Formats: sequence, C-alpha cells, structure tokens
Amino acid sequence: MGSIIWIDIRDRYGITQLIFNEAVTKTELVEQARQIGREFVIMATGSVIERSSKNQNLPTGEIEILVVALTIINKSELPPFTIEDETDGGEELRMKYRYLDIRREPVRKNLELRYRMTQEVRKYLDGQNFIEVETPVLIKSTPEGARDFVVPSRLHKGQFYALPQSPQVFKQLLMVAGLDKYYQLVKCFRDEDFRADRQPEFTQIDCEMSFVMSDDILNTFEGLAKHLFQTLKNIDFTAPFPRLTYTDALTYYGTDKPDIRFEMKISEITLLVKGKGFGIADNAEYIGGICAKNCSEYSRKQLDELTEFVKKPQIGAKGLVAVKFNQDGMVKSSIDKFYTQDDLLKWKALFNAENGDLLLILAGEKISTLSALSALRLEMGQRLGLRDKNKFAPLWVTDFPLLEWDQETQRFYAMHHPFTSPNPDDIPLLDTNPADVKALAYDLVINGTEIGGGSIRIHNSDLQQKMFSILGLTQEQAEKQFGFLMNAFKFGAPPHGGIAFGFDRWVALFAGVDSIRDVIAFPKNNAGSDIMIDTPSEISETQLKELF
Ligand code: ASP
Repeated sequence: MGSIIWIDIRDRYGITQLIFNEAVTKTELVEQARQIGREFVIMATGSVIERSSKNQNLPTGEIEILVVALTIINKSELPPFTIEDETDGGEELRMKYRYLDIRREPVRKNLELRYRMTQEVRKYLDGQNFIEVETPVLIKSTPEGARDFVVPSRLHKGQFYALPQSPQVFKQLLMVAGLDKYYQLVKCFRDEDFRADRQPEFTQIDCEMSFVMSDDILNTFEGLAKHLFQTLKNIDFTAPFPRLTYTDALTYYGTDKPDIRFEMKISEITLLVKGKGFGIADNAEYIGGICAKNCSEYSRKQLDELTEFVKKPQIGAKGLVAVKFNQDGMVKSSIDKFYTQDDLLKWKALFNAENGDLLLILAGEKISTLSALSALRLEMGQRLGLRDKNKFAPLWVTDFPLLEWDQETQRFYAMHHPFTSPNPDDIPLLDTNPADVKALAYDLVINGTEIGGGSIRIHNSDLQQKMFSILGLTQEQAEKQFGFLMNAFKFGAPPHGGIAFGFDRWVALFAGVDSIRDVIAFPKNNAGSDIMIDTPSEISETQLKELF
C-alpha cells in the first residue's frame, strides 16, 4: 500500500499483523521486509500499537506491531497451495505436503480437538478407577473380521507376527489377570479392501471390565459419552440414551445404525398393498415405506430424482411408488389403476399421514428392501435439512444376533467376534437354531454412525470351545490359535465384558468433518498409501534376503 507494508506473522496460536511504514521506518528495514515471501520464518521486534482500521473478525484485529528490527531466520519456497482456511490445494496435494496443510487453522484445530478429547477420555476413565495398560503390537492373529497385516520375523525364518486388529484377547487376559478395569488409547490395524473413509491403521478407545453385565458397561460408557459431550461440545444429555434392539432398529430404520435425529420411521404395508393386481407388489416378500411430512407438493422431477436414487446399483430397488396426500384432500399416485381412493386412504391411516404428506414405498425381498428404505430415509432427511451437523442423537443398539450365515462359504461367522457371549437364555438354541441365538452385544450409534461396539464375553472354556466349533474350527485348530485363551479361562476367569470406540470417527463427528482423514495428523489416502513419505514401497534386496 504505497509507503506501507503489512505482513501477517503466524504461529500455532494465530496471526498478528506487522507494519512497516516508510514515513517512520528505516529504509533498510523496509527493503528487508520487501524480501519476505510466503511462509518465511522471521523474527520481528517492535511496539504493539492500536490499529487505525480494526478487523473485528480477528482475535488480534485491534492491534498491530510497528517493527523496528527484523531477522529472516529461514526462507521458504513458494508453497504449492495457499495456507489459508479455504485453500486452493486439492486433497492429494495437501496430503503430499501434509506438514504445510497442518499449518492451516482448520486442520490444526482438529488436531487440538483430538488432543483435548484424549485428555477428557483419560480424565473420565481415571476417575472411574480404570488403568491404562499397553498391549503388544507384534502379536498373533486375532479375528475381528478383517485381514491381518503381517510382519516377517528375521530370527524365525518363515514365521510371522500379526499386527493387532484390536487388543481383544489381551484385554480379556488382563481381566483374567485381575486388573478389573482396563482401557487403552490404542492403534489397531486392519488390512481391508479400500472402502470410503477407512484407514488401515486407526485408533480405538479400548475398554474392558470384570464382574459386569451389559447394563454396567452401557451405563459406564454412556457416562463417558456424556462427559465428552459436556466438556467438548458443551451439550448436556440429562436423559438416558435411547436403547433399541437390533430387530427394532432394522424394522423401523432398515439399518443397525439408525440416524435418529429425525423421525420418519419405516412402516411395513405388505398386507394392504398385495393382492390388487399390481404385479411387482404381488410378488414381493415385503413392502414398506416412509412418510415425508409436507412433501405432497413434490414435482414430477423431484420424484424422478428419487426414483433414480433408489435404482442406483448400490441401493438396488426396482422402482419407487409415490402417493401424495394433497392439502385439499386429493390423493394422487402413479398406481391409481390398481388401487381405489379408499385403498389409498387405508395406506394413509397406516402411516398416520396427514394432508400435505408424501408416501414413498418400496417392494421386494425383505432385507434388501429395508436397506434401500434406510438409504431413502437418509436421502429424504438430507433433502429436508433434518440431518443438522450440530445436533447429536446418540443411542444404544442391543441384542445383536450372535451369528451370521454366509451363503458363499456356507458357514456361520461371528457377527461381533468369537469371544462374544450368547444370551444365556438362548444357549440351548446353539445346537438347534444357531441363527436365532442373540448375543450380549451392543453398539453406540451417533447420528447414523457406529461409534463403538462391544459385548459381554464368554469366560468359560467349554462354551468358548463350542463357539469355535460352530464357527467351523476343529478342536485342533482352536487349540493352536486360541489355546492360550481357553487355558487362561481354566484358572478362575471372572465374568467380563467391554467395548471399543472408533476414536478417529468420534473426533470427526465432534469436529463436524466428514472424513476421518481430517482428524489424523498423517493419514493414508483412499488407496492405503502415504504419498508424503511414499509408502508402501519396495525394500532393498538385502533386507528381503534377511527375511526370507
Ligand atoms: N475388539 C472389539 C472391536 O474392535 C471391541 C470389543 O469387543 O471390545 O470391535
């Protein structure tokens, strides 16, 4: 600005404006200031003065520093993107230069939030008498439903360590060891196929307690969740979190992670729709729908968009039936030739719909139709602005099935993991109807995201052995893989249970960001690579030879 130079000087705590005024500043100093480029490291001395034009949007916007001495400590190349809140750098570029990206305030703020969360987690759990215990990283495979990362052993050629998918067996062994209340903020590793927003290494708040039942775990960790909401988001949840069984979650929301920030529950309408000559419906196993309030004015185009949406391959519905209950009492639908106005008014009653509402109905095989309805419900919630990022709706989902049948391999898999206890009432069903056995397992869900999950464990070696055999492990295989655990259970193992929370996801939720990459200092990209340090990468011949 003519004879005045301003420079923003930035550190971890923010920005302050330096000023050089040719009228009062020495010419060499002004010349030196002209040399400074973006991201130079400088030291300035001067007096703090009141600004003539104040910037109310900046915490330091009322002052500036009139510089009397300046040192350039280090130069900088021109950074590949601008270090500002709204940057011009694409994600790959920002990941390659992550150390520059972290200079941006929003990224730094997320890391600060993450740190404060770890502190509050530790404070709360310490207050509840938990102790943090570190467990090893070079271990033997633990089944958590993903592939293990393995590390070849140089000293034992041909043998491998596995990196923990979670410290599951160790925390159970700590209970057998009498430690009673354990937690750990711990890195876990899962070699999964690339899916949106997964990281091969991520952090859990991993917890375990002895002499507990499901309610004790739910109450203790609801306390943790409330503490975090209170201290970090200034939100007080006074009422208990709602609890929903897995079956009800599927029936009313079509998913085991319902977003209950808004109502719009799914209702089944199979019996009213079938038998009127409408082919798709007559052949369907299940017909269900949702009622969108005040949407009867939806245009042809909007309904077409919704039809396209449900027909996407990942959602998989064949089509969408819409029924409008107009404000003036008229009922409009695309299926008038199969259903009388009277029929449609019965539908209206079933959904408790009012004039002005819109019914959206899908038909097909039960489980896939429920899951398509879940996606449609979320889409409508989004369109209607009902999924406010600043609103939080936590709930517990309980009573998961113990087992899941896999068509492809024709065997049962543990829905949670093989150490989860069946509900004692259902133990007789293990031999007759394993698919109907419920587990003492629970998830914490917030805004449609699974934030944590856990279970009461099996603590009896015979029952554990039986569980392994249902999962298709021979006695020998079970002995080889988990002999140490079943053996430990023979030495006075207390009843125990626990839970683990996806810490990255929880921080992302509190930070209001969509991707967990935004709350991890040095994340991998969607292909599992760190493009800054260039890994995975090849290793030298010598290293390879030593290992194999
Ligand atoms: N180990 C489990 C998991 O990582 C959590 C638990 O059962 O505590 O999902």
